[in-house]
Amino acid sequence: IRHLVLVLGDQLDLNASALQDFDPLRDVVWMAEVMEESTHVPSAKQRTALFLSAMRHFAQALRAQGWPVHYTELDDPHNTGTLAGELARAIAHWQPEALCMAAPGDWRVLQALQATAKVQGKPLAMRDDLSFFTTVRDFAAHAKGRKQLRMEYWYREQRQRFGVLMDGGKPVGGQWNYDADNRASFGKQGPQNLPAPQRFAPDETTQAVIDLVTRALPDAPGQLQDFAWPVTRAQALQALDDFITHRLPLFGQYEDAMWAGEPWLYHSMLSACLNLKLLSAQEVVQAAEQAWAHGQAPLAAVEGFVRQILGWREYVRGMYWTQMPNYLTRNALDAQEDLPAFFWTGETDMACLRDALQQTLRLGYAHHIQRLMVLGLYGLMRGVHPQHMHSWFLSVYVDAVEWVELPNTLGMSQFGDGGLMASKPYVATGKYIQRMSNHCQGCRYDPAQSTGPKACPYTTLYWDFLMRHETLLKTNPRMGMQLKNLSRWTEEARQAVQLQAKAHRDNA
Ligand code: FAD
Ligand code: SF4
Repeated sequence: IRHLVLVLGDQLDLNASALQDFDPLRDVVWMAEVMEESTHVPSAKQRTALFLSAMRHFAQALRAQGWPVHYTELDDPHNTGTLAGELARAIAHWQPEALCMAAPGDWRVLQALQATAKVQGKPLAMRDDLSFFTTVRDFAAHAKGRKQLRMEYWYREQRQRFGVLMDGGKPVGGQWNYDADNRASFGKQGPQNLPAPQRFAPDETTQAVIDLVTRALPDAPGQLQDFAWPVTRAQALQALDDFITHRLPLFGQYEDAMWAGEPWLYHSMLSACLNLKLLSAQEVVQAAEQAWAHGQAPLAAVEGFVRQILGWREYVRGMYWTQMPNYLTRNALDAQEDLPAFFWTGETDMACLRDALQQTLRLGYAHHIQRLMVLGLYGLMRGVHPQHMHSWFLSVYVDAVEWVELPNTLGMSQFGDGGLMASKPYVATGKYIQRMSNHCQGCRYDPAQSTGPKACPYTTLYWDFLMRHETLLKTNPRMGMQLKNLSRWTEEARQAVQLQAKAHRDNA
């Protein structure tokens, strides 16, 4: 054959660059389910099931249009268990002249595939991934010569370049950023008439995968009974439409809010569809922009949503690829603590953390503020090693792929990169959580207290964090206010918090 065309589990796009000149008479698509992808970190059952189901549906779609697919299932007795091993077997079988693929998302996967191609003596053509607005080359060009990188400048550049929410050379509405409008909480009454998002009951293919995962990966974290993610392009389009119609109008206003027992709120839940390439970034942004143009959603909501995708998502991808492989081992704060065991069970008496953990293990989902300001915040202030936090975040979410997870976890949330992703560590007391949610009402702790039996661990760990890193943080002008408050503390008060923090670490 001419080409063996490699399609990975997060490249499920019929319009992918790798498939654009596909000739069913001369080319074959290669896809493989391998154990390695579920075990290099212990992938949650729901995450593995999503990937495998979406892959099987994609292979069905390819075959339906008459394209030959070489597909290995996870429990095939000949399966070698690794991408490299499966690729070597397929090359031996088909003897292709060359291999081709769209650029993979993960550095580790790229290394493995390139090494296999080399050993097998086959040229491997790497094409741009067209489901993003930008290439990593664009990001590198943007970053070149800049002393400091900030997402906001990158984002404005992309708005102009792609003409998104632009009025000639100016942003529509006269402002680039409506963040200030996007910080509301649900107040005392809580969310009213939340629109239930569309969910997708498992079909036969998904059910077979669920059975397989239950059988083959019994010890993997998380649960499967609530699996209801979109697994096909058609379902992804329905999910997009459902979000745009029912949740986008209030997305911005409540973007940072939380409420106990309400996992979805006004979020899109589209990250997995985007990351698997069931949807392209362009079509999602376009759908949101159209909603604004037709008066179906306010500008602040649409701008806030567009910024996440055209801004943050493309930015973290550029960051990942320009910083790897060294990025993986960075630990600017020299954090050395282990991950507390309750991260795998959700069994803790901290109400906010319990809610976020239990929801994560049940659904494979938490929204951004839960990840950043509940889960990540706790790990950061406790001093958990950023590698442990990274492995956990990569394990548990259905949308977890390293290129987006790593900069968010190690960089934005844990400050492990010393300030590349975030200009200061995201630290806060329990009062932040109290302001943005109702969790503290149902909690045995009190966010206003930093010592004593009712002290909120977030508040204790916050002050302890500032003390531990006082010298380093003094060099950061954005930390001035927070450190100034600390400077008023007596030595006794400092010691009391340090003791309380130590007791919490030792016992929880
Ligand atoms: P919405 O709130 O509806 O946002 C819309 C879309 O914007 C998302 O679908 C996503 O594609 C994009 N987006 C939003 N925030 C970010 C961001 N910070 N970086 C990149 N894209 C963003 N996102 C992942 O896709 N995979 C991950 O593994 C992942 N790990 C994270 C780990 C940590 C510690 C943090 C703080 C964030 C992480 N994020 C990750 C980003 C973000 O939390 C999720 O994209 C979002 O919660 C997914 O839910 P949603 O689709 O409902 O998002
Ligand atoms: Fe979380 Fe502290 Fe509030 Fe309890 S009191 S819910 S631990 S922030």
